Amino acid sequence: MTGRAQAKRVLVTGGATGLGAAIARRLAEEGAVVLVADIAEAAGTALASEIGGQFYRLDVSSEVDWEAAIAAIAHDCGGLDALVNNAGIASSKGGEDIERIDLADLHRIFAINVDGTILGCKHAIPLMAKSGRGSIVNLSSIAALIPAAFVIAYGASKATIAHTTRSVALHCAQAGYGIRCNSVHPGQVRTAMMNTIIERVGRETNMGTDAAGTLFDSQIPLGCPQEPEDIAHAVLFLISDESRFVTGTQLIVDGGMTLTN
Ligand code: NAD
Repeated sequence: MTGRAQAKRVLVTGGATGLGAAIARRLAEEGAVVLVADIAEAAGTALASEIGGQFYRLDVSSEVDWEAAIAAIAHDCGGLDALVNNAGIASSKGGEDIERIDLADLHRIFAINVDGTILGCKHAIPLMAKSGRGSIVNLSSIAALIPAAFVIAYGASKATIAHTTRSVALHCAQAGYGIRCNSVHPGQVRTAMMNTIIERVGRETNMGTDAAGTLFDSQIPLGCPQEPEDIAHAVLFLISDESRFVTGTQLIVDGGMTLTN
């Protein structure tokens, strides 16, 4: 029996934990050879071994790291069929509204979220183009589509990713590479990142973490929590050949949150 991502060599950044790990597991279930890349070496190595993949240490904000990782993948795997630019950060050390944002935090968030995504596309495209096909999935967010005063830098970085995705899609189409590029926009999934945001909102509003969590949950029109697997299924579709005519799209997976904002 063949899977929906059978034999596809897929690099997942930030793949050691959170949504990246769910994406890596789902792709492996469908036959992909998953290349887990992260700065979290222990968790990344353990996951790669669990799903029969390979781990690469990669700080997505470093161009030197990208050059080394893509060269290693070309050597180890002979090519690359897909890239999931999933690694990202949200929380600042200090506050993150427009009056309190710290310039160093702003740059740190952009370095990982925006530089990381652009560098990933830049260095993976030539390797994918050699085989005449490929799929890139960039993790954006509903924060790219609706304003959120408490994550100003994060929202700006995710809006940049959504815009960049469409530019990359057009570039690859015009170049005739056979490479598609799409963005996925999760709503809120209780990963380490989301828990940190909820804790901060609970602290800053004095409502506490539990009440802030309840407030966040109440904003999902479908009325149930979103699971990491919901994002993994969407990414699988965009990696699979089922989406062969889909490029430059923004796939929103948010239980309807953008409908009411
Ligand atoms: P997470 O914090 O739970 O996991 C992030 C992973 O990225 C970790 O394994 C971490 O080690 C890795 N990472 C961090 N910095 C890195 C770097 N410089 N280089 C390589 N790896 C690095 O986050 P998550 O919730 O799983 O989010 C994954 C992606 O989904 C992010 O891009 C995030 O913005 C996006 N997203 C998440 C949500 C959500 O509700 N969780 C909502 C919208 C968008």
